[in-house]
Amino acid sequence: MIKKVLKFGGTSVGSIERIRHVAKIIEKEIKQGNSVIAVVSAMAGKTNELLNLSKNISTDFNKRELDVLLSTGEQITSALLAGALTNLNINAKSWLNWQIPILTEGEHSNARIINMHVEQINNFLKQKGVAVIPGFQGIMRNGDISTIGRGGSDATAVAIAKIFQTDICEIYTDVDGVYSTDPNKIPVAKKIEKISYDEMLELSSLGAKVMQSSAVQTAMMYNIPLEVKSTFTNRDGTQIFEQENIDYKKSVTGVAYSKDDSKITIIGVEDKPGVAANLFEPLNNAQINVDMVIQNISSDQKTTDITFTVKREDILKTIDILKKNKKIDYKKITKNDKVAKVSIVGAGMVSTPGVTYKMFKALADEKINILAISTSEIKLSVIIDEKNILNSIKKLHTVFDLD
Ligand code: ADP
Ligand code: ASP
Ligand code: MG
Repeated sequence: MIKKVLKFGGTSVGSIERIRHVAKIIEKEIKQGNSVIAVVSAMAGKTNELLNLSKNISTDFNKRELDVLLSTGEQITSALLAGALTNLNINAKSWLNWQIPILTEGEHSNARIINMHVEQINNFLKQKGVAVIPGFQGIMRNGDISTIGRGGSDATAVAIAKIFQTDICEIYTDVDGVYSTDPNKIPVAKKIEKISYDEMLELSSLGAKVMQSSAVQTAMMYNIPLEVKSTFTNRDGTQIFEQENIDYKKSVTGVAYSKDDSKITIIGVEDKPGVAANLFEPLNNAQINVDMVIQNISSDQKTTDITFTVKREDILKTIDILKKNKKIDYKKITKNDKVAKVSIVGAGMVSTPGVTYKMFKALADEKINILAISTSEIKLSVIIDEKNILNSIKKLHTVFDLD
């Protein structure tokens, strides 16, 4: 017997017909003698629909009530799936966050799962029952309902795999695995058979939403094997696991992109020790995350330009803080929020020289201007104009042999 977590995303439970189909997938597992905990997302589009309802009341809707509202999407699919399973004569039952309970810590809309009670569900599994658990939701110490961030059902699934000590966590979705880039954007993208936690973590942090990054991080920390596969085909999916077991033939494994960033340039800042610290201190205090930083070499040794990127949603707040900062002197601030971050990721980069040059040359050949750069051991990201996203991904895909 294998003990499994099976997580079904929004499209997989997007209609009654699909929920019936998911029940059949679970039935197959039960017939093979496996023990199943199913985790479900809300029906595709539901969470956005609920969010819009709240915005119709107020753009500053009460955070506590927002979580009560958003968690209902997953409540619906849990009940429908448990009902569909009982219709197939399978012993199934849904549990909401407070019934388990799934304990969380942190802020509303962005809480973290810290623990769950396992006893009653484990007893149910022992009686060959299928437990259906809503993703994305939890309960705070004070009894308030919480949610754990968009795409959070992946994180719920991995947390359950860890706490219930299951053998595997299978992420069923609308594509049949992790691809070299988003297959819905670049049709020549190739499926990756096996990928390391590190690479998957970089890809998902840099925009590949096929797996939520905090879910990958937990899986990596506790060595929980993940498999991403399709709800709609029987093809083999992608296995995500420890790096040592993978043979790297290519320097680059995947290309990711996101439109979450914006770029700010402060022109004519005094060029002396302590300026950068003075500039970034209040941003740090306001918990604004600065990603890439570039400082130009000043020709006159007196002033310089500093460019950096922050999340697009933070741009106005950032500029406001800069303008109020009495500790810095500058001529002008410019901003650009029509930018995108395009990244190449690959554990094979460590042992392949020339990857950086190859990326820059590829973009230059397409006449794409690089606005900022950041690197780590296994990734290289550039900021470019948003209009060049598709072109750059296609080109990088070809240049790094991923087609
Ligand atoms: P779910 O609702 O099942 O959680 P998501 O929409 O969150 O599904 O994630 C699946 C989507 O991720 C795919 O439909 C695909 O468009 C997108 N995606 C982005 N990058 C990749 C990638 N590298 N490989 C596969 N899918 C990707
Ligand atoms: N329903 C939630 C969302 O849309 C969680 C999830 O789907 O993983 O973000
Ligand atoms: Mg998702």
